[in-house]
Amino acid sequence: LLQASGLRKTFGDNVVLDGVDLDVPEGTTTAIIGPSGSGKTTLLRSLNALTVPDAGTVSIGDVSVDFGSLPRGKEGRRACERLRAQSGMVFQSHELFPHRTVLGNLVEGPVQVQGEDPDEAAARARALLEQVGLAGREDAYPSQLSGGQQQRVGIARALALRPRVVLLDEPTSALDPELVGEVLAVVRDLASQGWTMVVVTHEIRFAADVADTVVFVDGGHVVERGPARDVVDAPQHERTQRFLERVL
Ligand code: ATP
Repeated sequence: LLQASGLRKTFGDNVVLDGVDLDVPEGTTTAIIGPSGSGKTTLLRSLNALTVPDAGTVSIGDVSVDFGSLPRGKEGRRACERLRAQSGMVFQSHELFPHRTVLGNLVEGPVQVQGEDPDEAAARARALLEQVGLAGREDAYPSQLSGGQQQRVGIARALALRPRVVLLDEPTSALDPELVGEVLAVVRDLASQGWTMVVVTHEIRFAADVADTVVFVDGGHVVERGPARDVVDAPQHERTQRFLERVL
């Protein structure tokens, strides 16, 4: 469903992505792991053109963007927006609208951007809130919720846009340790329901348990990829072994 090939990105003379390929079949979860600064977030943001790579292509379904020959100006921006519309993004810190209720946060995108009927959007939003364990909190404001609850709203908001792929950027790294579990449980639930997801995570055991595929990135390259448990429990590459020894 999602394919990326030859992604390259430099910031100044810092080569952050140096020819990265990714293939995420429909209904599967891919976890991206690797050391701090290895380019994981840049890779994830490239998949929906929040970061525009210098070269390479990304396809989601039948929408494809070749960043190497992206037209300048409006046409290029439109191509990026079409790609972005295929995925829902969950950020490290949820970035909810503080002056909107939980329900307001969920219906904003579908109604304003996608033109959905407000009543239908609200009905879907309620179902999504139930799914992330927040039924009954529709009228709360983000500041009245715990960090874990806010992040679960962030996930529901991404799903409300009916994306083909859900991209999660270290969804638990800004949370107090005791709140991590409830958010990971929601992500686990989505994986078992067959959502197609790419998640950047430092939670290596979680990646091994929940993802189908683990991709280990270091120095802007994919060093190793494979079935999640194989990569985490029996890494083949020496760099993967060293990283896992440090973090597990
Ligand atoms: P972490 O696990 O610490 O979040 P990461 O693997 O996600 O790290 P990235 O955030 O992708 O790594 O960053 C990779 C490199 O790119 C870093 O050296 C970072 O400083 C650099 N970088 C990222 N975004 C920018 C930017 N907008 N401008 C300049 N440099 C950037």
